[in-house]
Amino acid sequence: MQISVLGSTGSIGVQTLEVIENLNRNGYNIKIKALSANKNISLLQKQIEKFNPECVCVCDVSKANELKNILPGIQILSGNEGLICIARQKVNIIVNAIVGFDGMLPTFEAICAKNDVALANKESLVIAGQLIMQEAKKNNVRIIPIDSEHSAILQSMQEYTTDDIEKIYLTASGGPFHKIKNLANVTLEQALKHPTWSMGQKISIDSATMINKGFEIFEACCFFDLPQEKVNVLVHAQSLIHSMVQFKDGCIIAQLGPSDMRLPIQYALTYPKRVKNDFKRLDFNLCNLFEFDKPNESLLGIELCRQAINIGGTMPAALCIANDIAVRKFLNKEFAFLDIYKFIKYVMSRHDVILNYSIEDVLELKNQIENLNYEV
Ligand code: NAD
Ligand code: MG
Repeated sequence: MQISVLGSTGSIGVQTLEVIENLNRNGYNIKIKALSANKNISLLQKQIEKFNPECVCVCDVSKANELKNILPGIQILSGNEGLICIARQKVNIIVNAIVGFDGMLPTFEAICAKNDVALANKESLVIAGQLIMQEAKKNNVRIIPIDSEHSAILQSMQEYTTDDIEKIYLTASGGPFHKIKNLANVTLEQALKHPTWSMGQKISIDSATMINKGFEIFEACCFFDLPQEKVNVLVHAQSLIHSMVQFKDGCIIAQLGPSDMRLPIQYALTYPKRVKNDFKRLDFNLCNLFEFDKPNESLLGIELCRQAINIGGTMPAALCIANDIAVRKFLNKEFAFLDIYKFIKYVMSRHDVILNYSIEDVLELKNQIENLNYEV
């Protein structure tokens, strides 16, 4: 079996390689065809030495040149063209663990090349879900979720179909600000401290704003072909129930497990098989009660995403692109926490929606929004 891992140096990428090593110890024979990273060539170099891929892509061109000097024997691609080239190479599964907008095109290209995709980059679906799902259907390829909630739904679906679903409960930890009403002075350091998961910086901020959960509503609509009205959000701070499906007869199936992303990653790679591992198990002695709560309405992420989904077309893409920019500015301390919502609202209010969009339309949209003149 051959797998390529895009974004192999990130939180999901590193855990994916760990899962692959574990699967190889348990009867699998997975060969890594390609790896990619943005800038972290020292970690990439270690991964190359361990997994011996046929080719790698370093998106940052000057870092790619640096690595070429260190490792002259291996094919090193660069830039978005390099990523696309890897996405098009035939493999059994492409894991897309890139963060943000730049993950979208590789997902699309992988599907056009008839590769199955294990998808962590949820932004792909928020930006171009309509096109990506259509193309997947046309090419008869599978897109398997890595996101824990969507993996939970997939696992709960068993042999049932969309028609059997009454509603979905997407569980949410609530993030670090679940109990906070006045968000004007919250800091970057507080926002980065996620209560239950250890993740990359961008998704940690998306969890703090609840934009992540809003994205996941749309992700669920795409994966399971549901209207957003059927996707409910339930805060479950313990992060033990990863999501639930309520069927039309009122019965509910939930998926539980430790808060460990290696589990949904493994399921995406072995789907629909179960394979032994020695990762930590859930200890029910430490949790005798499941707690649920409503989302904090001061966190506007869910509301903004629901608005964008309702409008449809390119509005979710505009929101997603605006969010990428706003989070980058928040991480650089150019934006305060609430400026993230302000900027998203500003972009959404100026956006002329294209209902039946093309990939070129969303690429152009990215340029437009990046070049907006905006003063905080
Ligand atoms: P991360 O920041 O830890 O890693 C991102 C990876 O993408 C790195 O390998 C980086 O080199 C690469 N990258 C960054 N910018 C790039 C660019 N412009 N072009 C190409 N490559 C680039 O992020 P992460 O937390 O691993 O998240 C990755 C994706 O998975 C995100 O879409 C996130 O929403 C999703 N996700 C993450 C988790 C988690 O637990 N971390 C859970 C669910 C979903
Ligand atoms: Mg999630």
